[in-house]
Amino acid sequence: MVRRMSADLRHSPLPRASVAFPDAIVAAMPPFPRGCVWLVGAGPGDLGLLTLQAAWALAQADIIFFDALVNEEVLRLTRADAELRFVGKRAGRPSPKQSEITDLLVSAARAGERVVRLKGGDPYVFGRGAEEAQALVAAGIPFRAASGVTAGVGGLAAAGIPVTHRDINQAVTFITAHDAAGGLSERLDWAALAAGSPVLVVYMGFRLMREIASRLLGAGRSSEEAAAIVCHATTARQKVIRTTLGRLAAGADAEGAEAPALIVVGEVVALAPVLSPFLFAEPAA
Ligand code: SAH
Repeated sequence: MVRRMSADLRHSPLPRASVAFPDAIVAAMPPFPRGCVWLVGAGPGDLGLLTLQAAWALAQADIIFFDALVNEEVLRLTRADAELRFVGKRAGRPSPKQSEITDLLVSAARAGERVVRLKGGDPYVFGRGAEEAQALVAAGIPFRAASGVTAGVGGLAAAGIPVTHRDINQAVTFITAHDAAGGLSERLDWAALAAGSPVLVVYMGFRLMREIASRLLGAGRSSEEAAAIVCHATTARQKVIRTTLGRLAAGADAEGAEAPALIVVGEVVALAPVLSPFLFAEPAA
């Protein structure tokens, strides 16, 4: 079946590269039968952080529904005749509702397609992958969740910030700042977070930075505590703003922070100036 790219694709024809997988990789890959859906994590941006399962699924799929935070370079790994459908948020245009996306997944699978639902990072980390999985189960459609590198781990690593260090933190908390309405979630217990988690990694907190800092300060965290904002992590536009909890929003304004961004609070941030200079450095002669 020859397919056209959907009119929904943001760019005009994307050259596709057919990927030849070595036999040992093929043997390790799960089957991708017709009528199934794979929820696939594309990682935070860097193509190199795509998993083998993700690359495999992209190479097999008949149709790929992808989100805004996905690096579209990964779509080159799809078959030339695979259909690419953008279902993310686009400035100034209404984005498809979650129920519409799940309906699309279900009907494509029912039509016998091999369906990939491609999301930034990991599909189950603040990515609505769980809701889609539930909808697929309700519709009786077999699926697989192919984990990706979540931005809160891989994105911080690219900024020289390890999410844990044995001498610093025995716990790390991933937080989504948003509730469904876009405000700071009232379901978060800031007192418990401030007291119980030495390292906090906040997703979707860009517009709520001031409020997040003030909640943590109000709950007893120090204004001198190390904090960072990591923008466009792992991409060519990556920007790392190292600051303190007290100066979080001021630092973001002064240094031109841009979404998508992660906020990280905790002493692991202090490792960044030590580790970063060697991250991409050539070995000394
Ligand atoms: N499922 C994704 C998260 C989706 S929520 C994952 O596992 O990574 C979207 C939020 O993720 C953004 O608002 C931002 O906080 C964060 N994010 C995703 N990609 C990012 C990137 N390359 N750089 C910085 N933050 C990123």
